[in-house]
Amino acid sequence: MNRRSLDDFAIRKLESLERRHLRRELEITARRARARVGRDDGELVSFACNDYLGLATDPALIEASREATARFGVGSGASRLITGNHPLYDDLERRLAELKGSDDAVVFGSGYLTTIGVMPIFAGASDLVLVDELAHSCILAGATLSRARVVTFRHNDMDDAATQLKAHREEHRRCLVVTNGVFSMDGDLAPLPELTTLADRYDAWLMTDDAHGTGVVGGGRGSTFAHASAVDVPLQMGTLSKAVGAYGGYLCASAPVVELIRNRARSFVYSTGLPPGTVAAAIKGVEIIASDAERVALPLARARAFTDALELPDAQSAIVPIVLGSAEDALDASDALRDAGFLVPAIRPPTVPPGTSRLRFAFSSAHSSDDVAALARAVRELGLAT
Ligand SMILES: *Cc1c(COP(=O)(O)O)cnc(C)c1O
Repeated sequence: MNRRSLDDFAIRKLESLERRHLRRELEITARRARARVGRDDGELVSFACNDYLGLATDPALIEASREATARFGVGSGASRLITGNHPLYDDLERRLAELKGSDDAVVFGSGYLTTIGVMPIFAGASDLVLVDELAHSCILAGATLSRARVVTFRHNDMDDAATQLKAHREEHRRCLVVTNGVFSMDGDLAPLPELTTLADRYDAWLMTDDAHGTGVVGGGRGSTFAHASAVDVPLQMGTLSKAVGAYGGYLCASAPVVELIRNRARSFVYSTGLPPGTVAAAIKGVEIIASDAERVALPLARARAFTDALELPDAQSAIVPIVLGSAEDALDASDALRDAGFLVPAIRPPTVPPGTSRLRFAFSSAHSSDDVAALARAVRELGLAT
């Protein structure tokens, strides 16, 4: 009886999603080199992956992973604080700190785990967390877990951010301001120089989520290096699963901040360390990002070629949206592109606000300029842009 009501609940929820064109499905996808993916209906050129440098299928990363697995085993066995801290972690954290220009770094099981672990350390029940309204889901989750008061400001609107700080900062003990360095579904950059000034003025700590910045903007060093002069952000989180090509998350910060995190962040303390092979692949990925400027410049160049061809606003990162409005229109456009041989996801609520469903194109160094030209042609022929 009880079991039946549980299933009925799930079925009703799914039907409601279906009616609103919001139901999602898992599709078996085999990722291959040169940004190709295999699906049951054949091979597609993928503009859906966040593997901006093609490192996930790079032979150097595969070999590093294989070697580390043979040497240290598949799983890490425990939390890093128990026995999960295999010898590769030190090397990865040193390289990340160097790349991002911080004193130290700490690696977590994923980017999501990083944010939800870090935010509650610096904000609690009597504090304020100020968040850009388009910030990533993990930031809202971290803010909720912190039990702080959460206030959003209009996307990239520094006047609104100042208004919110002026209205609410004084009522709270500490204040954390959190934003994406690069916005995942819009591809634009946060105005970090202005935000650091605001944070200073209101005695707040700034945290950025650079999941889509590292390896792509600022010469690969991320969004703090993507502005006219380098910006000092004291808490920079990111992922090892996008441009770095592996898996995991990290926070770059000062030595005492990192040490506190290693002691207190629950998703660090109570979750198993990453597999050695994954850490080894990430080391190789970071090494390539730090040394191969030509490869790092490609995703943005490809995205720019696409926005140029279609006379869209200049790409600021590897991500370009074409906003279509309804979820149904976005799904139809995605299906039409798939028939033309391209995998471009339809992004719908709640990932984006209602009425702004869109196609999201992600460019990679693994795309050739011919791939991009062919995509632009298909988009134009389908009447999705001029
Ligand atoms: C992907 C993503 C994350 C989560 O990183 P994972 O390592 O995949 O958990 C966090 N923030 C942003 C902006 C992301 O795009």
